[in-house]
Amino acid sequence: MIEMLTVNTLHKMKTNHVKKTATKAGWHAALYMLLLLLTTGCTNGQNKNEMKYEISKTPEEWKAELTSEEYHILREKGTERAFSGDLWDNKKEGTYTCAACGQALFSSETKYTSGTGWPSFFKPLEKSSVAIEEDRSLGMVREEVLCSRCGGHLGHVFPDGPEPTGLRYCLNSAALDFEPED
Ligand code: FE
Repeated sequence: MIEMLTVNTLHKMKTNHVKKTATKAGWHAALYMLLLLLTTGCTNGQNKNEMKYEISKTPEEWKAELTSEEYHILREKGTERAFSGDLWDNKKEGTYTCAACGQALFSSETKYTSGTGWPSFFKPLEKSSVAIEEDRSLGMVREEVLCSRCGGHLGHVFPDGPEPTGLRYCLNSAALDFEPED
């Protein structure tokens, strides 16, 4: 009798242990799936872009609005050939706006002749007009300049500009529109 009880108890204990282990494994699997969903959701570029910029459009929508050169520079982070754009030598007074969303970005008052063949400025219109991101492409570490409203790529900023800021915002003409002063 005692022997029967012991065997029964042992059997019950084993069954409970198996059940507990199975439940634990189930929880682990659920947690793993949740983590997987969260991490893949966070690294999705489109989602990141949607959260970050006020204006967010699909590549197809941008392609319908921009020329192929504008699309390549603004949305694919391209660079126009030096001295090829229509604004590097523009000396008129006015405001430079984003060619994608129209946000005012730079004033002719901060434009200067850098000799690089790209429109160059020592300061944006407002600090909040542009967003700066680290760019590690082409084996270099550079500071990328983007429109803060639509995330359009404008160019790069370097620490070799004139006073008072010592900065050189080196931009693509194709990423900008120019609105002359009245
Ligand atoms: Fe923009």
